[in-house]
Amino acid sequence: MPAADLLPDAHEALHATFGFNAFRGVQEQVVTRALSGRSTLAVMPTGAGKSLTYQLPAVMLEGTCVVVSPLIALMHDQLRSATANGIRAATLTSADADRGLTMDRFRAGELDLLYIAPERASQPHFRELLEQSRVALFAIDEAHCVSEWGHDFRPDYRLLRPLLEAFPEVPRLALTATADHHTRTDILAQLGIPDEGLIVAGFDRPNIRYSIRPRDNAMRQLKAVMDENPGPGIVYAPTRARVEQLAETLASATGRRVLPYHAGLDPEVRARNQAAFVASEDMVMVATVAFGMGIDKPDVRFVAHAGIPKSIEAYYQETGRAGRDGDPSVAVMFWGADDFARARQRLSEIEPHRLQSERQRLDALAGLVETAECRRAVLLRHFGETPAQSCGNCDNCLEPAGVIDVSELARKLLSAVYRTGQSYGLGHLEKVLTGASDDRVLQRGHDQLSVFGILSADEQPLLKPLARALQARGSLLPTEHGGLSLGGDAREILKGEASVMIVVPPKREKKKRGGRGA
Ligand code: ADP
Ligand code: ZN
Repeated sequence: MPAADLLPDAHEALHATFGFNAFRGVQEQVVTRALSGRSTLAVMPTGAGKSLTYQLPAVMLEGTCVVVSPLIALMHDQLRSATANGIRAATLTSADADRGLTMDRFRAGELDLLYIAPERASQPHFRELLEQSRVALFAIDEAHCVSEWGHDFRPDYRLLRPLLEAFPEVPRLALTATADHHTRTDILAQLGIPDEGLIVAGFDRPNIRYSIRPRDNAMRQLKAVMDENPGPGIVYAPTRARVEQLAETLASATGRRVLPYHAGLDPEVRARNQAAFVASEDMVMVATVAFGMGIDKPDVRFVAHAGIPKSIEAYYQETGRAGRDGDPSVAVMFWGADDFARARQRLSEIEPHRLQSERQRLDALAGLVETAECRRAVLLRHFGETPAQSCGNCDNCLEPAGVIDVSELARKLLSAVYRTGQSYGLGHLEKVLTGASDDRVLQRGHDQLSVFGILSADEQPLLKPLARALQARGSLLPTEHGGLSLGGDAREILKGEASVMIVVPPKREKKKRGGRGA
């Protein structure tokens, strides 16, 4: 049956099965393709309603929709909500004792949806099962896992190709929330989906206000965010220890209910904390990135990052947990030069064939953090959109930051790094550059260097932001013993072939009223 004939039925089924009156965004386009047997890669941001795009065809089409999904917890969440909508669904995982029954139901055509993990799906046994059953559609969830360019490559996803090829007449629907241009092209190729099958939904989340600030005192900064935002919120922290510590101190500093969440907690405690958060109207969860996937809480009012996320993709996904209900929400990141230093250090442990893409990922993140442009514009351009220059709802649009050219100062700092032997930290370098001759400076003879005391008084305050920017972009790299060495484009900067701009944050006026005195 042509898709056009199925569409009125699709609207009816949308209402009958899910109780919704209309499709959202590209859902209709994606569903139409699936119903007409065409393969598709749908790139839709978190919260855009991806599940519906295969669940609805699963209900309408004859046969079962086989859904490949990477996590058992995710599958069981999906199973619960599908079953609640009256969809005949089952999961086939090691955690399911009723696998035999599920396979019988699958063969008998009694399932609309069958969820399975990629490692199980790629086994010969499963292929035999498919041959005995009727498959209407292959849905591949979190499809970026198939690509080495993606931020979450899973080799098991590569094994899906032969399975899909064994059933060429079954259409494929690949779904992901995060895929840059490279990753998209790769997913299309890996899963055998034609180029015309790519559908990309808008990534803009206009109700989220983005703000990215240098970290000076994480505790004080996070407390301020919590005081300004009384609704539910998530604070992402880089390590388990930091999660525990922040949860405790933020709770006592704000008097609000704050709970920790990380993979090291007892599964029972974790589940309890998560359930408390989902039910709460004012709780704050301090968590590692282990928290958030598959959690359906529409009224999260803020997401704060206590350190840098792994990539722009990760940032978008994590901040995207704010404001799914469409109400105003904020996303705040507090970053430090040490975050980037650590991330760049980790690059040295990466296998060579992934190094380039990981470095690009980090550079893109540094670009977002260091920009004086509209944050939303930078984000959306990263996902291949052509947004307006200014959104009016991010820190840089609301309080335009100044940009100053500090190439000259950068040359002074980098040559001080070079001339002192690329092993001293910023404290020592600052002394040398400002001509402060303490014992260490004298002992090393650094007062004899041409860079000794070359900094002017008005340059000194810019030294720290400059060092932060140079570390973010990789021109300065951390040494093993806490010093700084030259990296990236440091040589080009020294030769005057590359310039360095830094963003100077707007001066916040303490009082609402009052003059703009000098
Ligand atoms: P994703 O997987 O893309 O993150 P979900 O499939 O979990 O998003 O859907 C997000 C939320 O949007 C869910 O609560 C879902 O019920 C709701 N939703 C999806 N499609 C529609 C629609 N057409 N109309 C109203 N709500 C919808
Ligand atoms: Zn903006």
